[in-house]
Amino acid sequence: MPTRAFAAASPTSPLAPLTIERRAPLPSDVEIDILFCGVCHSDLHFARDEWGMTTFPVVPGHEILGRVSRVGGNVTRFKVGDLAAVGCLVDSCRTCSSCARGLEQFCKSGAIFSYGSDDHHSGGKTHGGYSERIVCDEAYTLKVPANLDPARAAPLLCAGITTWSPLTKWGAGPGKKVGIVGLGGLGHMGVKFAHALGAHTVLFTTSKGKAADGRRLGADEVVISSDADAMAKHAGTFDLIVDTVSADHDLDAYLALLNLDATLVLVGVPPKPQPVKAFSLIAPRRNLAGSLIGGIAETQAMLDFCGKHSIACEIELIRMQQINDAYERMLKSDVKYRFVIDMASLKG
Ligand code: NAP
Ligand code: ZN
Ligand code: ZN
Repeated sequence: MPTRAFAAASPTSPLAPLTIERRAPLPSDVEIDILFCGVCHSDLHFARDEWGMTTFPVVPGHEILGRVSRVGGNVTRFKVGDLAAVGCLVDSCRTCSSCARGLEQFCKSGAIFSYGSDDHHSGGKTHGGYSERIVCDEAYTLKVPANLDPARAAPLLCAGITTWSPLTKWGAGPGKKVGIVGLGGLGHMGVKFAHALGAHTVLFTTSKGKAADGRRLGADEVVISSDADAMAKHAGTFDLIVDTVSADHDLDAYLALLNLDATLVLVGVPPKPQPVKAFSLIAPRRNLAGSLIGGIAETQAMLDFCGKHSIACEIELIRMQQINDAYERMLKSDVKYRFVIDMASLKG
């Protein structure tokens, strides 16, 4: 089926309209008319080939939410008219040890991501949510709580799960002091989740103007990371810090804030390597870790938690045609706190 989309044709070309092909739903597939798609900084890294792994053209977008328009004959969990969502994962081998643990993002045969992966159906690459519809196996399609505003729920599919997963894995909760570095798309959900899970939540930001928002979103304390005295007051006190920063920054400065056996988890992916001093890790004994989105069951659990606690993202709704400006604003940390594309603009 010909499907309207927006794509980057090269690392330096602005995103522009492109017609792509979507398969007709197979027996286990759900076809979704996309209503909203969030704009993740990974979309920008990938469209500009900043990680050196992009095949062009690329249709970004992995915070996809819409309404089911068709279902295959074997689909049991969705019917036409339901709200449904697709995140970063659209398939995996389903049998390896990672898939068996519900950690499909770490599939040993290679997870199939919503864009830029080998698409075994088409023989080309998968295409993401900057498009009018997507077809996805129901096993990788998520249920959306009915009480959430769909536009504000879309970014939960990446910004939400990517912060939820490390916060829950590393035990953010009552009695724990948890830091979130960066108040962007991921960071603002990290602050909301750390607070909702009951942790003492500290936001680290480079943007003085975001301090009040940080508190409103759930931070108990806000530290301007360029203020060395304010940073020093927290030395050796954190149980967990989740770092969402997308560009070069000083990891040693955050490792110094960890208590014995505490962990700094990187979720941000700066294109260049970030150096670390051995001393920052060895005394006191500290952990440096990373985390990639979350598995399908975990993503559904996060969505259900958001429904139960009425948690959604702070967004600025844009038209598809504004995407190139949105990327430039994201690079200036000028987004409160996630751009979401109203996909009706693609059809109009
Ligand atoms: P974003 O909305 O642009 O937020 C990034 C934030 O980092 C900015 O708002 C800013 O916060 C801070 N920042 C930016 N440049 C900085 C610098 N030079 N020094 C210090 N702080 C800086 O991006 P996002 O969508 O949240 O994504 C963040 C990163 O996570 C990206 O690299 C993205 O690719 C990655 N990501 C990873 C996963 C995963 O599974 N691991 C999933 C999704 C995204 P302040 O203004 O508050 O300082
Ligand atoms: Zn993302
Ligand atoms: Zn697998």
